[in-house]
Amino acid sequence: MRIEEGWLEGVRRVVSPNQDARPQGEVSAVVLHSISLPPGEFGGEHIERLFTNTLDAAAHPFFPSIVQLRVSAHLLIRRDGECVQFVPFDRRAWHAGRSCWIDEGRIRRALNDFTVGIELEGDEIHAYREAQYRSLAAVTKALKLNYPDMNYARITSHARVAPLRKNDPGPAFDWAYFRQCLKALG
Ligand SMILES: [Zn+2]
Repeated sequence: MRIEEGWLEGVRRVVSPNQDARPQGEVSAVVLHSISLPPGEFGGEHIERLFTNTLDAAAHPFFPSIVQLRVSAHLLIRRDGECVQFVPFDRRAWHAGRSCWIDEGRIRRALNDFTVGIELEGDEIHAYREAQYRSLAAVTKALKLNYPDMNYARITSHARVAPLRKNDPGPAFDWAYFRQCLKALG
């Protein structure tokens, strides 16, 4: 996988309006998330619609509570491993919200400024799929090769940077297995 001007080559693009410039231009860490819409259901176009402000509030009883959100992520990795990119990595996506991270002893806030947000299609119950780990590892390697400040130690989760408020990607995400996938890629 290669990155060209902030976009993964060969990956489907659905441009989100929910993006702006990175204040310092820094791209140095990854925040992992999970999402399913409606919650617990996989497939369909609702996630793409949420990130492009076109979600139909009438389509499900849960949707009126989120339809007003203006959110995005750089990338969605679907259950079959397909990647969909919404925001170029050089721009700021709106995924982490209020957030805080201890970065080499320094407390940093506003993680959207310098992180890449990756959503895994999933929830807290179902194990993530092999194809998702494989895609995630390939994307992470491409990010490391493309952005000099990025490295494999700088991968965190929404749960860690927004504790009490967020729990994703949740206990179903197998960190040890993901690290193995990264190692296998070299
Ligand atoms: Zn999240």
